[in-house]
Amino acid sequence: MGFFETILKNRKTAVVLGHLNPDGDCVGSCLAVCNYIVDNCPEVDVKVYLDEPADKFAYLRGFDRIHTEVPEQFSAQVCICLDSGDKERLGRFGGFLESAEFSVCVDHHITNTGYGMENRIQPDASSTCEVLFGLMEEEKISRETAECLYTGMVHDTGVFQYSNTSEKTMEIAGKLMAKGIPYSTIISESFYQKTYVQNQILGRALLESVLFCDGQCIFSVIRKKDMDFYGADSRDMDGIVEQLRNTKGVECAIFLYEKQFQEFKVSMRSKNRVDVSKIASYFGGGGHIRAAGCTMNGSIYDVINNLSAHIVKQLKEE
Ligand code: AMP
Ligand code: MN
Ligand code: MN
Repeated sequence: MGFFETILKNRKTAVVLGHLNPDGDCVGSCLAVCNYIVDNCPEVDVKVYLDEPADKFAYLRGFDRIHTEVPEQFSAQVCICLDSGDKERLGRFGGFLESAEFSVCVDHHITNTGYGMENRIQPDASSTCEVLFGLMEEEKISRETAECLYTGMVHDTGVFQYSNTSEKTMEIAGKLMAKGIPYSTIISESFYQKTYVQNQILGRALLESVLFCDGQCIFSVIRKKDMDFYGADSRDMDGIVEQLRNTKGVECAIFLYEKQFQEFKVSMRSKNRVDVSKIASYFGGGGHIRAAGCTMNGSIYDVINNLSAHIVKQLKEE
């Protein structure tokens, strides 16, 4: 029996949770698990709770049944936490984890300490979707579930480009393609396509970016008033830090956007040398060696100064 079939045996209710500001791997993994349960464990009532996900993922089956409001009561027998490195990142829905009789955590963040009763954490996996593929029975994965898994893998690997992409990642992607998914459309419409506003914000961030540390580092920031001006929110910031990292000669990129006065969401990416997960963890966040994030308070100047001190230290210690 597969992993999910086993944990749901003799149980009637389950919830699936992901992390704050859900990205492609988070939405993909939550809907993959939901679809897999609907298809293979029909006696289980399964619900997905997430922060408002981006519309670009609306093609995934189950997207329209994602709950974004906190329920009056946190009641489910099983709580399945996906792609969230720690409990706090479950945000408003963390109550399900506390009240469930059984919980599991499936993830690939190196900073995850295993907060479920059962944990499947693989830091060398490209994505939570890749870990999930190994927990599902292949012949029971429907085309719709395959679309969810493929979406998560595409987003966390930057279309199979980043260094987290392995031979195994490609083998799994191939098996998912064999399920008959529209892989080209998934890549072009959920990953590369941007709305007009998203392009404007990206342009603005690039235009105002600043190189420092002899061109080895780059940062950019989008302020709240500019987000309001363009009518953009956190869901429109996907891909900006990756484009900054793409700058020739840059080892480490930092992108900030202002969540509220003097509170910034920080995203960091590196190419080959800087361990950004270490820096994000130091400031209360987490992530992976080449992609990590945290939230920091203070002026832009303070935030950049604090982060750059750690980056410079790592670059010097080599
Ligand atoms: P981001 O820069 O938000 O795209 O995040 C990069 C990676 O770090 C993702 O895998 C996130 O899940 C993780 N991450 C981002 N912010 C945090 C945080 N505050 N705490 C823990 N992990 C984070
Ligand atoms: Mn994620
Ligand atoms: Mn992920």
